[in-house]
Amino acid sequence: MPSEPVIARADESSIAEAARHLAAGRLVAFPTETVYGLGADATQGEAVARIYAAKGRPSFNPLIVHVLDLDAAGRLAVLPPLARRLAEAFWPGPLTLVVDRRPDCPLSELVSAGLDTLALRAPDHPVARALLAAAGCPVAAPSANRSGHVSSTRAEHVADDLGDRVAMILDGGPTAHGLESTVLDARTDRVVLLRPGAVPAEVIEATLGLRLVRPAEDPCLPHSPGQLESHYAPRALVRLDAWDVRPGEALLAFGTPLATTGPMRNLSPGGDPIEAAANLFAALRALDATGAASIAVMPIPDDGLGEAINDRLRRAAVGRR
Ligand code: AMP
Ligand code: MG
Repeated sequence: MPSEPVIARADESSIAEAARHLAAGRLVAFPTETVYGLGADATQGEAVARIYAAKGRPSFNPLIVHVLDLDAAGRLAVLPPLARRLAEAFWPGPLTLVVDRRPDCPLSELVSAGLDTLALRAPDHPVARALLAAAGCPVAAPSANRSGHVSSTRAEHVADDLGDRVAMILDGGPTAHGLESTVLDARTDRVVLLRPGAVPAEVIEATLGLRLVRPAEDPCLPHSPGQLESHYAPRALVRLDAWDVRPGEALLAFGTPLATTGPMRNLSPGGDPIEAAANLFAALRALDATGAASIAVMPIPDDGLGEAINDRLRRAAVGRR
């Protein structure tokens, strides 16, 4: 049964309360200049996992991380000169830059869906900025709608779609653009337009005097935004639905682990899919780093986030590097 929607008019006290929810690992919906975002503290893996659970996404796509400014971005990611110029020209605003994570990046690996990259943006909406300032942490936020539903441009839309799944909805009125942010891969001097959006490509090109590469022009690039995200796969073979651990195998456990003397990581000893999702990519990397030829994965029920975890494990099983 849906509980009461928790819409609060955005003011100093509701924004402070929203910041406390974020610090406690809970979800807060807030307005940006594009659409309403479904936010979580990007440093907390379980909070990020709750975003996927609330949206009901059947797979893990990397999320956009919202920051106040270029300084905050520089603490999380490596910003090449062109990425800096793009941020200086268009931040705060509806431009998202995909860049490499710093080795000491404190964010959950789940926000990057296991990739070495981060998608960063500094929003221009006063409520979003006040929330980022009050929270004092980077905020991961996809659009605040259930998977497959349209993006929300009003607090009431968020309440209809996600009202029982968020701690609070900050109401800042209807959003201005209603169009998502433009996403650029800004890791190198060849800046790629991953997703057209609220800042037109021509405006970016004219402002910086550069040409954006369109994926369709380059057969080596993925053709639709988001395809980049399916690339994380361990070097080791991944053996799913394992009921035993074979010699030389590492074990990725869920619940009570199988007997083994080899390397082992447990996604969630208590069988909690949120905890398992938060640990998934770090555990795969750790087991891969042991040099084991194969990783035996215990069965994980398909309930809730289990579906997205299993989707990613199946891709890891077929998509060896
Ligand atoms: P949404 O959160 O719904 O606004 O969508 C985020 C968009 O950013 C999707 O198209 C993602 O594929 C893209 N994105 C986010 N993070 C990354 C990343 N690390 N690499 C490539 N694309 C990304
Ligand atoms: Mg969306």
